[in-house]
Amino acid sequence: MRRIALALVQLLLTSPANAYAQRSAEVDDFLGITRCEAGQAVTDLRADVRDSALLAEVEAHEEVHRRQAAEFPTCEAFLASITTARSIIDIELPAYCAQWRLAVARGADSAATRREFAWRIAAQSGAMENRLSVVQRFERECA
Ligand SMILES: [Zn+2]
Repeated sequence: MRRIALALVQLLLTSPANAYAQRSAEVDDFLGITRCEAGQAVTDLRADVRDSALLAEVEAHEEVHRRQAAEFPTCEAFLASITTARSIIDIELPAYCAQWRLAVARGADSAATRREFAWRIAAQSGAMENRLSVVQRFERECA
């Protein structure tokens, strides 16, 4: 049971490989993963990714999760705190915000990227019905 829970959370903490892909996210799309190792959050980036701009975005996203985890006594305690759709949205918003800033800086459409990331957050949280409110939060909390 515990292993299943951790695997699920790992997926939730993972970044999309290509934020601009026109297809839905699949496991192969996840280029970075932040996981707990002996109480510390560690990020693995997929070794075959060569696009430096994309790597920078994934790293920016996962860096936020490492910082969030560092605010807890242990990384595992951080994972254990992620129990609701709301808590997933709360941790993913700042991570996608960091990613969004880099994407926009390199020319991605600001509003379209914000909407796409908000929908991803809503999907990750398992609450697609919240996607419009996630878009609104993204606009309010990430500029
Ligand atoms: Zn994330």
